[in-house]
Amino acid sequence: MTDDPTDHETERQEAWGFATKAIHAGQDPEPVTGAVTVPVFQTSTFAQEAVGKHAGYEYARTGNPTRTALQHALAALEGAAFGVSFASGLAAEDAILRLLEPGDHVVMGNDAYGGTFRLIAKVFGRAGISWSAHDLTEPLDLDRSWPDNTKLVWVETPTNPLLTVVDIGAVASVVAKRPEARLVVDNTFATPYLQQPLVHGADLVVHSTTKYLGGHSDVVGGFVATNEAEVHDHLAFIQNAVGAVPAPWDCYLTLRGAKTLAVRMDRHNQNAAAVVDLLVGHAEVETVLWPGLPGHPGHEAAKKQMSGFGGMVSFRVGSRDRAMRVTEGTELFTLAESLGAVESLIEHPGAMTHLSAAGSPLEVPDDLVRLSVGIEDVADLVADLRQALDRL
Ligand SMILES: *Cc1c(COP(=O)(O)O)cnc(C)c1O
Repeated sequence: MTDDPTDHETERQEAWGFATKAIHAGQDPEPVTGAVTVPVFQTSTFAQEAVGKHAGYEYARTGNPTRTALQHALAALEGAAFGVSFASGLAAEDAILRLLEPGDHVVMGNDAYGGTFRLIAKVFGRAGISWSAHDLTEPLDLDRSWPDNTKLVWVETPTNPLLTVVDIGAVASVVAKRPEARLVVDNTFATPYLQQPLVHGADLVVHSTTKYLGGHSDVVGGFVATNEAEVHDHLAFIQNAVGAVPAPWDCYLTLRGAKTLAVRMDRHNQNAAAVVDLLVGHAEVETVLWPGLPGHPGHEAAKKQMSGFGGMVSFRVGSRDRAMRVTEGTELFTLAESLGAVESLIEHPGAMTHLSAAGSPLEVPDDLVRLSVGIEDVADLVADLRQALDRL
């Protein structure tokens, strides 16, 4: 091993458990003042002693110490060598798609976050990038019908909002046959606490840190993790050249949220399981979608690659009108877009988060209700949902 202090740092951190990394990786006490918490470096520029002689920072679009801490911490959580933070999940996705060139093709799942579909189809489609939607729960079908010029396979698992589980390792072995192609996994729903896609063969992991990583519905952000130095350097170039960087305060809030990810996820898992019990047993509910249910088509794959089934639950109630009445009938479950925070949310994906996918192969059923089960007292959550369903 070398004497490079950063190498020692990495070795020391690699031995830590998940919760320790969340609290300490990239977050040593600040060397000048000893501040235990990474400060908000609210500055746009950094003084230089002589031209080009500085402490590693020049201008805050290019780099800011609060952002550096966040990037180190989140990369450690994904077990990745490198991480790059962005102003939103979609800015992170945009940076990944900018690795492509006109004429390249993107394969995506036929069930994905509406904004991902909109970005790939409606923004990059105009820049000469083609796409196709596939059922990625059948990776051998993709192997047989592999589209020419595919450079990126975009997996989301579990998916938003249908909770479809894609076997990351199975897709990775199809992608690995084509050295020119890379596998991206959107790990927003599972979080690195429940699932680490790089271990299963993904090349890049993308997050909307707005959701579970931030965890408190108070900040928008995005993140990309990778083990490839070349991909990291290209992404860092795009981060600086395009400029969709997160503000120092936003980095601070995300870092603060991520510290408690492990304890929050344990409670999200438990509360979701109890809510699922209610839904499965309720006469007004037709179908419950949650990877923890033994009858869920992705249950086996979920058990293989996830250490818990997460706090997102979707269910169908038979008609759009009934779905609307449920979403408007709860008190603790707040009717709102977004997910992954301490408070419980409820929404109608067809009319809200996934409206941009209407009329596309990614359209969602209109009797679907999506829950983000929070970490309130579970008895209160179950009672709230029960009264809304009982009134149908
Ligand atoms: C919210 C979300 C995004 C987009 O992230 P923003 O932070 O809203 O830009 C991407 N993927 C998934 C799965 C999401 O839920």
